[in-house]
Amino acid sequence: MEADAEVLACDLCIVGAGWEGVNVLNAASKYLPESARVVVIARERTWGGQWVDQYDFVRLHGPHLAYGIGERPWLSLAPQQKAFPYQASKREILQYFEETMEACVTERSLDVVKLFEHHFDGHSTNDGKVEISVHRMAQPSAKLRVVASRLIKALGADTPIKSPFPVPGGLSVHSLCPGDVGSPSCIAKMRFGEFRAAPIFVVGSGKTAMDVILRLSRELPGASHRIHCIAGRGTYFASREVLFPAQAPSDPDAADGIDLMIEMFDIFDGTNGLEVLNHVASKGLLRSPIPDAASFVNGTASAQEVAEMAAALSPSDQKVTKAHLLCIQQDAGQPSLLMRHLDGSTARKQLPPGTFVINCTDNFRWQPAEPVISDGGLVMSPQLIAGTAGPSGNIATHLYFQGKLEDLWRGVPRRNYDARDKANTGCQYLMTAVLNNALMASKLPEEVRISSTPPSIFSPGSPSLLRLKEAMPRLMEKLHRVVKGRYTDTQELVVPPHLGGWSADTP
Ligand SMILES: Cc1cc2nc3c(=O)[nH]c(=O)nc-3n(C[C@H](O)[C@H](O)[C@H](O)COP(=O)(O)OP(=O)(O)OC[C@H]3O[C@@H](n4cnc5c(N)ncnc54)[C@H](O)[C@@H]3O)c2cc1C
Repeated sequence: MEADAEVLACDLCIVGAGWEGVNVLNAASKYLPESARVVVIARERTWGGQWVDQYDFVRLHGPHLAYGIGERPWLSLAPQQKAFPYQASKREILQYFEETMEACVTERSLDVVKLFEHHFDGHSTNDGKVEISVHRMAQPSAKLRVVASRLIKALGADTPIKSPFPVPGGLSVHSLCPGDVGSPSCIAKMRFGEFRAAPIFVVGSGKTAMDVILRLSRELPGASHRIHCIAGRGTYFASREVLFPAQAPSDPDAADGIDLMIEMFDIFDGTNGLEVLNHVASKGLLRSPIPDAASFVNGTASAQEVAEMAAALSPSDQKVTKAHLLCIQQDAGQPSLLMRHLDGSTARKQLPPGTFVINCTDNFRWQPAEPVISDGGLVMSPQLIAGTAGPSGNIATHLYFQGKLEDLWRGVPRRNYDARDKANTGCQYLMTAVLNNALMASKLPEEVRISSTPPSIFSPGSPSLLRLKEAMPRLMEKLHRVVKGRYTDTQELVVPPHLGGWSADTP
């Protein structure tokens, strides 16, 4: 810790202002004394985490009610938008975060010090306090010391914002990121410039690739023959209509999305992910515009979105390549894509001058485990323990302040992210999203659970929810058996790097 750094004392320091971080502050505000001082450290310029710098045309892929800050309603949505299952836009999400944080601060007269555009460098403990080192991102020599009674590290998914792929100097390639595709000048260049006929390669086939392909096919009328996809193994999406139906089913006893998830968890044994995905796809729970898809990362899409994407990529045998991009390089003076096919062989594809290549690769990445509670109880780190970021921040913080987390966290299953195997990773992901949440929430006292969680996206008495409740004991047993990671792990169960996809250190 630098001796000459400025010192800021507080009751609670939170690192992270994304979905997990805002949930932490909202939950913590219920336990902190009136007028407590809270320091929030985040790299972005405002509340929102990855949403702040995400491409402008991004929306939630699931319903807004599944994306809450504790019990807080989405006040500024119009009544027809509040109707389930509206997918909020980036602007609406940022507004919801901003207004909720304001309400939370005002209600408890909190003194919130926003160290935005600051980087958290680490912490140590001394004399019952946590000492946190921070620097200003624009001026790394501007260091601060925060001395806090407690620290909550709400880094959550810590989602990286995509940059364009590097291009060796002098090559005529437009290397772009999804944010570029949102700009009118980029679309104008694709439509009217010297390169108006150049091919467009979208690299990736998940939620970001879908958003980009749909935007391109809508903004470049008649140009879908130019759109190609380097799809990795091909990503499945959960059917939005099946998982989050807009209306109650006419036959309440008919099997629905919840029943299909129960079936999925029942047949998953930890190793048969692809078989499970294909099985539930045949029953309508999953779908993909990519032939023989083999990955799933919990994205959701409507039938119309998938059909539109498939049309833009038709004929798929000419426009979809099942491979991973390794790099853009020069080949006999021409730009080319170096790709690794699924069988491990590599191949080059020469590109016409001016080709557009858009990086829509993995948003999720491997993160090392750390104890959920450490340093004698002074430090808490939710790390997606309740399956997804927001509920993890919310439930873990309530349990932490209630003194109920210490006995729980060591036994909670922790999924591993293996970029080489997004079939088993995806099954683990969905299983932990549903079951870790239920496991953690069940430890909250009933009055806290009722007052601190958003209204369910499913109607409370629905027959399939009752069937899920009945199945819980065997599903919990399964969860503990097939999801082998724990937050106490010191050695990872899988090789961490992004071997399946592009990464900055790919040769
Ligand atoms: C395009 C896209 C769409 C998505 N749509 C959905 C959806 O519809 N539904 C859904 O449930 N999920 C969705 N997700 C998943 C998404 O990751 C989560 O929903 C959520 O936004 C992640 O929030 P988070 O708080 O975990 O992480 P982030 O938003 O990444 O926030 C991490 C925070 O930690 C801070 N931080 C980390 N390290 C440091 C450091 N050293 N110093 C300072 N600050 C630090 C960051 O600055 C940031 O504030 C989507 C993801 C993407 C990329």
